[in-house]
Amino acid sequence: MYDVKGHLREVLSQLPQGVRLVAISKYHPNEYIEAAYAEGQRIFGESHEQELRQKHASLPADIEWHFIGHLQTNKVKYIAPYVTMIEAVDSLKLLREINKQAEKCGRVVKVLLELHIAEESTKYGLTLEACRELLEQGEWREMSHVRICGLMMMASFVDDQAQIRREMQTAADFFDEVKARYFPDDDAFCERSWGMSDDYQIACQTRSTMVRIGTAIFGPRVY
Ligand SMILES: *Cc1c(COP(=O)(O)O)cnc(C)c1O
Repeated sequence: MYDVKGHLREVLSQLPQGVRLVAISKYHPNEYIEAAYAEGQRIFGESHEQELRQKHASLPADIEWHFIGHLQTNKVKYIAPYVTMIEAVDSLKLLREINKQAEKCGRVVKVLLELHIAEESTKYGLTLEACRELLEQGEWREMSHVRICGLMMMASFVDDQAQIRREMQTAADFFDEVKARYFPDDDAFCERSWGMSDDYQIACQTRSTMVRIGTAIFGPRVY
């Protein structure tokens, strides 16, 4: 089997204090997750509802599952009973649905707002302007079953390290703006989720609090 434990230790040794690891286990079998779990890893991220459902049902109950991919509103009801955090909220409609389904289960689901900063047009997420509008609109303040815990973004998939750094820095600056304007007294609004296998070192230098790393721990995905 792939040396998950060795790669996990290597990645963890490079994360500064205050940066948590979400181990992205999509497309990898349970035994890989169990290997990381045996090393003490408890936060795992998945991007497909059915795959997450199967893994949640068959793996230890104290795993914190993060949903990291694009989430259709009609899938929210399946993950609301157990998911800890939904990282990529990119519309008010989705936020409303999470609140509604979490209320039905008597839970509070943590969420991050996904920013679209990358230059690629295919990426999901809110532009900075759309994110401001969503927060300014204010309906989220009445949603007692979602907790907005911060921001998430994916940098452009490019080799240009300076561009990646610029995009992450834009997200970090925007976090400060949003924190000051909408969450000054809310300690829960503290997460900056950026950094993947190829760019997590840059993320650690641009104030990430949560890196989402798959390949560098589990090896290449077989689709
Ligand atoms: C798959 C995925 C990751 C992990 O990517 P790696 O390059 O394998 O580390 C991180 N974030 C999101 C949103 C993903 O879909």
